[in-house]
Amino acid sequence: MPDPVVVLIEDEPQIRRFLRATLTAQGYRLFEAATGADGLVEVATRQPDVVILDLGLPDLDGLEVIRRLRGWTRVPIIVLSARGQEVDKVRALDLGADDYVSKPFGAGELLARIRVALRHAAGAAREDDAVFETGDLRVHLLRRQVFVGGREVHLTPIEYRLLCAMIRGQSRVLTHRQLLLEVWGLDYVDRAHYLRVHMAHLRQKLEVEPAQPQYFLTELQVGYRLVGL
Ligand code: CA
Repeated sequence: MPDPVVVLIEDEPQIRRFLRATLTAQGYRLFEAATGADGLVEVATRQPDVVILDLGLPDLDGLEVIRRLRGWTRVPIIVLSARGQEVDKVRALDLGADDYVSKPFGAGELLARIRVALRHAAGAAREDDAVFETGDLRVHLLRRQVFVGGREVHLTPIEYRLLCAMIRGQSRVLTHRQLLLEVWGLDYVDRAHYLRVHMAHLRQKLEVEPAQPQYFLTELQVGYRLVGL
């Protein structure tokens, strides 16, 4: 396996310096751009395995960069955003970004997100992997059976679809809109309460402590993330 290639689009020199040190130490090949326009060129010419994109750029809106990239590439995009800009995170994810980290972030957090994105890109072709397992939770995707600690749990068809959507997300955050679209369809993307109710049922059935979920985590004002342990 050659070293994964990363394109970093970020205008703040300190953050570029920090990420250059972190990523090259981990064996990533890093190419940098300080503007959205340069970033688009870098992605087109370097054909990276992952793009790390700051949303606040001096020339183009980061969301516009995502929109343009998604016109021609499925490369995983991890967004860097300022804390408190939940609306932008949601829009970035809905436009096709894969994940985000909030500034200020630690190296470990970003590296974990990159690994998930690379795994997801590599695994996109084999979605029907037979068994998903995390902690006490075990799902036989082909047989549509769900077990918690060896005990089979019955899910309704909606609950099972929601569970499968979360599993396909592979530890990435999924927005309310993405989940509503996938589980209920286009006419239901505004019915956030459907999602809340069924997520509560799923936690009731699959979490040891539904009020303090270990698996189905809430990303405040953004969506949900299924944690793979
Ligand atoms: Ca910036």
